[in-house]
Amino acid sequence: MNEKKICLFGGTFNPVHNGHLYIARSVAALLDADLVLFIPSGMPPHKDAATIPSGKHRLAMLRLALSGSPQFKACDIEIKRSGPSFTIDTIDLLRQDYPDARLIFIVGMDAFIQLNTWKEPERLLTLCDFALISRLDYPFSLLSEIGALPLTRLSSSIDTDKLKALDQGKRSTYSLPMRTRNSLHLLSVPHIAISGTTIRQRIASGESLRNVLPHSVESYIIENEIYLEEKNY
Ligand code: ATP
Repeated sequence: MNEKKICLFGGTFNPVHNGHLYIARSVAALLDADLVLFIPSGMPPHKDAATIPSGKHRLAMLRLALSGSPQFKACDIEIKRSGPSFTIDTIDLLRQDYPDARLIFIVGMDAFIQLNTWKEPERLLTLCDFALISRLDYPFSLLSEIGALPLTRLSSSIDTDKLKALDQGKRSTYSLPMRTRNSLHLLSVPHIAISGTTIRQRIASGESLRNVLPHSVESYIIENEIYLEEKNY
């Protein structure tokens, strides 16, 4: 039987937007994944909790955005937990729910190169694969210049020509096996200039949200008066 591939997409999703949906669709297609779990954070360790709407709202918006996509599912594992959510704790719990699946954690290059600052990075590398996407100012070619922790665990050296080809969009994937039985999958996904920050600013200043959010999410924001004033965050 084929091993099930499950991508894990964590974030604040404050709110979920078309950029997230585009990334999830692209990653799932490039890796031939069976499922993408969107995991909104409870108390993100790197963000200010006072400016983030309740988990209930962020989860409700995700559910609306994902309805109609059976391959996508919202996961409330971090919202339900109190205190900060560390990736390793989430993956430990998901491993119990999906004991036989290949878990693939989606992460941007900006976060990935700081993996050594995460909780238990060494053990994390043994628990899941990583789907890496480049970010503006963080191209894949950076990997050949920096000594990020996971790179010391690869079972062969990195081909810099392949990194360049990914950055130029001439190649779509480059999978690197690690000495643990997991892999790093470098994926060329075009940059989409949408972020939660710009959406919140647009709402607060009454600008149009056309093409940046699913319609159902926009209606939910309007009905629940989220992001209008700081007190509603
Ligand atoms: P904010 O501006 O509030 O930080 P965001 O949309 O950038 O919002 P998250 O909701 O935390 O941030 O995003 C979840 C994940 O999706 C993160 O790993 C983030 O790097 C990634 N992401 C978000 N928007 C994009 C985008 N346009 N292109 C590539 N990755 C993105």
